[in-house]
Amino acid sequence: MRVLIVEDEPAVASFLGQALRESGYVSESAATGRDGLPRLVSRDVDLAIVDVMLPDADGFDLVAEARRRGARLPILMLTARATDTDIVSGLDAGADDYLTKPFELDVLLARVRALLRRRDSDRSPLSVETLIMDPATRKVERGGRRIDLSAREYALLEYLMRNRGRVVSKAQILDKVWDDPYFRESNIVEVYVNYLRGKIEFPERPRLLHTVRGVGYVLESREEGPHASAPLEP
Ligand code: CA
Repeated sequence: MRVLIVEDEPAVASFLGQALRESGYVSESAATGRDGLPRLVSRDVDLAIVDVMLPDADGFDLVAEARRRGARLPILMLTARATDTDIVSGLDAGADDYLTKPFELDVLLARVRALLRRRDSDRSPLSVETLIMDPATRKVERGGRRIDLSAREYALLEYLMRNRGRVVSKAQILDKVWDDPYFRESNIVEVYVNYLRGKIEFPERPRLLHTVRGVGYVLESREEGPHASAPLEP
């Protein structure tokens, strides 16, 4: 596990680096936003600890920019400012957790472990009936047959799979999958649900993506009995 520390105070950076290495992590550090950004966006860092007050950047802006560029790693912010608005802006910017300076080392290491555990569970495969999604590789298949999805179809299916068995409204889908008010009055959700049905539903298998009239959609296998989740014959 490789942890990136973006921190301009050398004493704090080396203290953190040493503590992480003693806990079995590989650590690296960047002292500025300019050096930190490409590391945050690179795929070879598993978690980042980012100071809010950097010489050339605001840590919140740095995290927001890294997220815009596709960074998906867990990020823990270190903040000296601990007002509620700071915490809200940190989390809104795309941080996963924060700690106020000065912090207890044990607490920081516990937060790091918790974030990495959560990341691992986000990466474990999802399944409904014989439909399987592997978030680590972004591969989707049903009954062993590979399904190719566009990025948006994938995001919609992932949201439905993470909420399997639960009815989700069109507004919730728009908020989580599109996050763009431009589409609010459009029928884009209906359109994409139809695209998705065309790819994940097979005539010989039970239907999975159901419309709940006037409410929204639910992804579930409604077939009863012990064979409901039996894999397809090859
Ligand atoms: Ca600082």
